[in-house]
Amino acid sequence: SKIKEVVFVKSSSRAKDCPKHDRPEFAILGRSNVGKSSLINALVRKKDVALTSKKPGKTKLINHFLVNKSWYFVDLPGYGFAKAPEAARMDWSAFTKGFFLNRDNLVTVLLLVDASVPPQRIDLDCANWLGRNNIPLTFVFTKCDKMKGGKGKRPDENLRDFKQFITENYKQHPPWIMTSSVTGLGRDELLLHMSQLRNY
Ligand code: GDP
Repeated sequence: SKIKEVVFVKSSSRAKDCPKHDRPEFAILGRSNVGKSSLINALVRKKDVALTSKKPGKTKLINHFLVNKSWYFVDLPGYGFAKAPEAARMDWSAFTKGFFLNRDNLVTVLLLVDASVPPQRIDLDCANWLGRNNIPLTFVFTKCDKMKGGKGKRPDENLRDFKQFITENYKQHPPWIMTSSVTGLGRDELLLHMSQLRNY
């Protein structure tokens, strides 16, 4: 399940411009600052895998990376900042719905959720939208090393609240994996999870 090679393929502004549906793909999605770049770097074990979604002017694109010549990582734009949930929600909807609804090679969405903050409305809305549209989903909790907290709740309490939401909203809850890019927690579990899904 190791990642040996990652090659940028293309950026697309519309779902229909994406690469052919010829390989399994995993879309990675979450709020800005959720720890997406850090997680990808940890998975690939490189310091700085260039995420095109972070480059100015490329923030609204669907970015395909080919991994080990056999499957795609799809980097989607972060969905907005906490201060403008309504605007961000609309923006995200308009942009990505087409992608989610038209990729039959999409194995699962990796929905990144920051465990160091309480559950955020926008994450719950996103999870609900994916659920309603029968799009396979894996919750990937990030920053799980922040157990000491400081202000507010600790990740274990945030996770408890988020999991409660999941169990209330899903008959069969989607898988969830706890990760930290600082300690490496969950790295192997996530890679294994993805390789198992690919082989089904
Ligand atoms: P992105 O905007 O989603 O790509 O987020 P980044 O990967 O750039 O991370 C945003 C911030 O969170 C940075 O300051 C990171 O150092 C921090 N961060 C990311 N992952 C972790 C983690 O696992 N643990 C801790 N403690 N901080 C993290």
